[in-house]
This record gives sequence, C-alpha cells and structure tokens, in this order.
Amino acid sequence: MGKRIDCECGEVVKAETDDELVAKVEQHVSAAHPELVGKMTREDVLGMAVEDD
Ligand SMILES: [Zn+2]
Repeated sequence: MGKRIDCECGEVVKAETDDELVAKVEQHVSAAHPELVGKMTREDVLGMAVEDD
C-alpha cells in the first residue's frame, strides 16, 4: 500500500513513499501543468494524497 493523488486532469499518480510521490507529482506537473511549477509545495502534494491499498 502507498499513496495516490487523483489529479484534476484525470491523471492518477501512485507511489509507495512520500518522497516518491512528491517526485512523481513534480514530474507530472512539469509535463502537464507547467503553470503550476513552483507553486506546489511538498506539503501541498502530501495534503492532496490519499491512502492507496
Ligand atoms: Zn494533472
């Protein structure tokens, strides 16, 4: 089990650890939401995350 973020665009980002989740979300944001780059903190990302099992 890990954590998951359901992005507003429909993308689902899953990871086993907080660090991995933050890294994957940063990659997704830079690819799909360039206007948000630098505006989402680690706390924002983890606050959006839900348990995934
Ligand atoms: Zn997205």
